[in-house]
Amino acid sequence: MAGACAAGFVWGGAGIALFHPTSFTHQVFLAFVLGGMVAGGVPLLSPLYRAYPCFAIPIVLPITFSMLMLGDRVHVIMGLMILVFGIAMLSSYARVQRLFREATDMRLRLASSVAEGSALQEMLRLDELTQIGNRRCFEEQLASEWKRADRNGGTLAVISADVDHFKAYNDRYGHPAGDRCLVGVAQAMASALQRPGDAAARIGGEEFAFVLPQTTVLGAEQVAERIRKAVWDLNLPHESSPIAERVTVSVGVASSDHASVASPADLIRASDAALYEAKRRGRNRVATVAP
Ligand code: GH3
Ligand code: MG
Ligand code: MG
Repeated sequence: MAGACAAGFVWGGAGIALFHPTSFTHQVFLAFVLGGMVAGGVPLLSPLYRAYPCFAIPIVLPITFSMLMLGDRVHVIMGLMILVFGIAMLSSYARVQRLFREATDMRLRLASSVAEGSALQEMLRLDELTQIGNRRCFEEQLASEWKRADRNGGTLAVISADVDHFKAYNDRYGHPAGDRCLVGVAQAMASALQRPGDAAARIGGEEFAFVLPQTTVLGAEQVAERIRKAVWDLNLPHESSPIAERVTVSVGVASSDHASVASPADLIRASDAALYEAKRRGRNRVATVAP
């Protein structure tokens, strides 16, 4: 703003110095040049806080004053015209500055609502209790990875996991302790995933599912065993469990390798069938069945 003010004074002073009281052509030319500068300053200086008046007023006032001082009708009219022109430019500056401010505000509001929107989207995909993905997250992830595998010809694996005898856990330790147990189990299982594209989700009460892109059934079995062991290693006491004195999970594995898997729904059905098989065989284990 100080720069604009100094420029205004310099050009205003130059205008007075160049003002030739006896040459009318000279005066008109000078009025046009200075008027052009005053008009050109509107778009250039409007974004800066009050810089434009500091630039324009020191140019317009001295030249207006000089014209009025000459006293004859033509110069008085010219001086008044320059004054009216200056006032019109000041009012356009005010309008341009308001538009500029509104556009800036709108851009900021838009940026913050976009940020809020994506935070909301993230929240909608998160399980409130365990802070891993929820069923919606799992389904979206599975659908998009299925499409990707279809395009690129890769293999997609799904793992289903379920806490063993969890009803007995709740009955023995209470529902709030059951919730804390689910949080620990979820975090332990999620940390057993190692690739950035892998996704963990809680899809029901004590049921979890995992999407593993670009993973064969053998690779998925290794991940499933890591998931089972991660929960085992938590060593959470479960005195009412008939299979171990700690919390355990059963895990089912399926992959799109199987000929009969033709859709994401088939893949879920296959991993659920494998989970059922792991339960049937005695729980706290990994099972894979051909769907
Ligand atoms: P199984 O080994 O066959 O899976 O036996 P289970 O007892 O784990 O299975 P069942 O389906 O009979 O019981 C699941 C229990 O999980 C019932 C319900 O009380 C409990 N549960 C479901 N959601 C929650 C939850 O959000 N918090 C708590 N604390 N318990 C839950
Ligand atoms: Mg269970
Ligand atoms: Mg269950």
